Amino acid sequence: MSRNGRQFDALAPGPAVGASESAAARMVVGLSLYVLLYIIWFLLPRLTAADRALASVFAQIPAGLAAAVLSLLASRPAGLQPRARRAWRLLATGFALYALGDLIWLLTYVGIEESRVLAVARLSYFSHYVFVLLGLVSFQRFPKNRRERMTFGLDAATVFLGGLMAIWYFAIGPIASQAHANPNMVYVQMAFALADLQVLLGIAVNGVGRGEERYRAAFMTLLTGLVALLAGDIIYAQSRVAGITPDGGPADLIFMLRWLFVGLAAYMHLRVTSRGETAIREGLRSDRFDLLPLVAVGIGYLTLTASSFEQWSSTRGGLILAAVGLTGVVLARQVTAVRENVRLAGEAAARQTEARFRSLVQNASDLIVVVDEEGIVRYQTPSAERVLGYGAEALVGTRIVSLLPAEDAASIDATLAPARQKGASAPAEWRLRRGDGRWTRAEIIATNLLDDPNVRGVVLTIRDIEERKHFEEQLRHQALHDSLTGLPNRALLADRVSHAQARGQRGGLPSSLLLLDLDDFKTINDSMGHSAGDDVLVEVAKRLKSCLRSIDTAARLGGDEFAVLLEDTPDEVAALDVANRIASALRAPMRIAGTEVSVSASVGIVLSGRDELEGEIFRNADVAMYQAKKRGKGLCEVYEPGMHAAVLERLQLEADLRRAVALGEIVLHFQPIVDFHTGAWVGAEALARWSHPTRGLILPSSFIPVAEATGLILAIGRHVLEEACRFAGEWGRDRHVSVNLSARQLQEPGIVTQVVSALRHTGLRPDQLVLEITESVLMIETESTIQRLNELKALGVRVAIDDFGTGYSSLAYLEKLPVDILKLDQSFIRGLAPDGDLSPVARGVIDLGRALDLEIVAEGIERQEEANALIRAGCTRGQGYYFARPMEPHDLRRHFVEARVKVS
Ligand code: C2E
Ligand code: MG
Ligand code: MG
Repeated sequence: MSRNGRQFDALAPGPAVGASESAAARMVVGLSLYVLLYIIWFLLPRLTAADRALASVFAQIPAGLAAAVLSLLASRPAGLQPRARRAWRLLATGFALYALGDLIWLLTYVGIEESRVLAVARLSYFSHYVFVLLGLVSFQRFPKNRRERMTFGLDAATVFLGGLMAIWYFAIGPIASQAHANPNMVYVQMAFALADLQVLLGIAVNGVGRGEERYRAAFMTLLTGLVALLAGDIIYAQSRVAGITPDGGPADLIFMLRWLFVGLAAYMHLRVTSRGETAIREGLRSDRFDLLPLVAVGIGYLTLTASSFEQWSSTRGGLILAAVGLTGVVLARQVTAVRENVRLAGEAAARQTEARFRSLVQNASDLIVVVDEEGIVRYQTPSAERVLGYGAEALVGTRIVSLLPAEDAASIDATLAPARQKGASAPAEWRLRRGDGRWTRAEIIATNLLDDPNVRGVVLTIRDIEERKHFEEQLRHQALHDSLTGLPNRALLADRVSHAQARGQRGGLPSSLLLLDLDDFKTINDSMGHSAGDDVLVEVAKRLKSCLRSIDTAARLGGDEFAVLLEDTPDEVAALDVANRIASALRAPMRIAGTEVSVSASVGIVLSGRDELEGEIFRNADVAMYQAKKRGKGLCEVYEPGMHAAVLERLQLEADLRRAVALGEIVLHFQPIVDFHTGAWVGAEALARWSHPTRGLILPSSFIPVAEATGLILAIGRHVLEEACRFAGEWGRDRHVSVNLSARQLQEPGIVTQVVSALRHTGLRPDQLVLEITESVLMIETESTIQRLNELKALGVRVAIDDFGTGYSSLAYLEKLPVDILKLDQSFIRGLAPDGDLSPVARGVIDLGRALDLEIVAEGIERQEEANALIRAGCTRGQGYYFARPMEPHDLRRHFVEARVKVS
């Protein structure tokens, strides 16, 4: 049952409707009692005819009004169809008009002259018939199709004709026979008879029309009431014709009963609507056998028989009886035909259903096979061709076992055994041989229909799931593997690691985990593009696998992070051995996008012990790898329990440094740079110091690497630049300040504006600022670095290469780069030759610098001999403890005043 909104409306009647219903119920009870009393009174023969007539007519009025009010109530419920609402209103009006007619008619009994009121009373009565007809017709929906219209028309005609015969014989005929005696009465009675015909028409239409089933009882009651009206009218007309006053006679009793039925019908209709009783689908009237037309035929024959009584003869009687018999036989024949039709229609529907099921089974995408108790195929659907490649009937007569691999034969029993007991088995998976000899996987459901006489076998529904299985396997693979390299991913590795750990705990050999992080992979990605980066990763994966045994697992954890699980590694040495093999495999140059690239990886190694927790092994490997990275590129580190502390310390340092930067704990010391000829200091290098609240002054080597790794160097660098320029402003126009820039700073696009704003804020001239860049910056030199250096040069700022000679940068760079100053690394002047001279390399570098017109500044001069050797080699400037240690800014001023010239 569908519960749409409309039905809910009907299920929940508003308060007004509920009130109407109970009011109507009380009214119907009242009406019934009233009519009952009337009948009792009617049967008591105590009054004179005239009084009786007066009382009888008077008594009709309240009953008529009650019927009108009930009809009005019936038109009110919310869920009512508009058609029915209109119909009940029309009926209510009709009934009220009838009661009005009675009221006016009553006046003739209280002395008012009949001719004065008669016309009005009759008008009232007649209009009552019109409204009743309109009301009855309103109930009906016009039949939709031709067949329905035909049936409807014929049935209505039958009912009308049957009723017409009765009215004709009992009313119209007798009335017409009086035409010569009392023409006036004849006209009036004829008019009433015609009005009756109207109502008869309404009844015919309604009695055979299609109405909602739930209202059927109400309608029948209504029609009964109206038939009573017709009967009353006929009796009334006959009384008139016979010259008897009809008022107070049997016609009145019937009219009264009419009000009872009509009122009751209105109440029943109201009740059905407001209770929202389930609307049963309208039945097809034509398929059902209708009684009303038969009743009409019966009435017709009764009338005919009655008319024959006056001149009864055996011939006539016989003929009538024969006609009745004939009609009866024809009707019976009709009934049989209808029944037969219904049966045939049912059979056709059943055949259609069967055909539908057959074609469903035959065209099903699954294969359906029926096997007998011996497991021999008795039936196969044509889909065997499509599903397994077996032609029509190819399987019939074969044993189903022959389709399975020999070793799987037992699985048949496993599937069929439960089916034998329970009816249907759970889905099982079989391997089946296809028609072309290939194997496929199929899902089988067995249903035991051995007891079903239509089947007598076990039905196997077979669905090929090879493709689905394949897809599932693919999905599983995707979920556990890295899509780029095809290596297992972190999830799969974690699973294997935990299995290996479990094996170790059960007494097997320990396993070990290697965590690899490629060095400088970001540089490859940035300079060569992501697709080249991908190629490198794929090649690395290939090489990793080539270094491993089949029981080991190489995995990609994401980005440039790989891992290797070595099963059954006896000790650290074995693990290191593999790590070295991997390292040398990676070192071999690979050709990527037309360029030779060689990669290295930092490796952390953990030997799994017997009792670490799951997940701990990964964390330890991480720590070891972290340590390896910290020590330099391409190194291996085996995990030791102490490493955690180191890592923790570093994390602590990082947090401390962050705080220090915020609190301004980074301060500047300055080391003078001296001109060898004049002995005067020509500038100073700004060197960062961390003035730690508890640990005192911390040197850059302890915090600059952390700052660079975390990006804090950007904030520190900006601070140093501003401060250095500010102090240098106090040193006079011909002294410069050197500021160290880290590679990270140079990669930031904002560095140029930073320098501009530092100069503007402090008023320092651009040529008073030297930016020192270490050689390592030049190693990862990119177009943007060179461009940035040029932009800085364009400001008038000078650029120095720091620690020159320690890196691998070729001298060829020097020509290409916008450089003004070379800072000779201290290592050149450390071990002087026995004759107290610089090494040939150092001298060569100085010559080269001079040839390129670069200013040479020597670093780390600690002794006088070193200074002398430098002067002899043609170096003009330098800095070092021999001249001055790095000092606080105010010490620098004092030092300037006391500057001693130590050069001879
Ligand atoms: P650097 O730029 O080469 O600075 C020279 C380093 O040599 C300074 O070490 C200085 O104290 C030291 N030094 C000077 N004369 C002598 C000497 O006669 N003998 C010896 N043995 N050493 C001498 P410091 O101050 O510890 O700085 C170390 C490095 O930290 C610097 O090397 C520089 O690369 C970096 N650094 C310092 N301050 C900053 C900064 O503000 N930003 C950046 N990015 N790096 C900085
Ligand atoms: Mg420096
Ligand atoms: Mg240096």
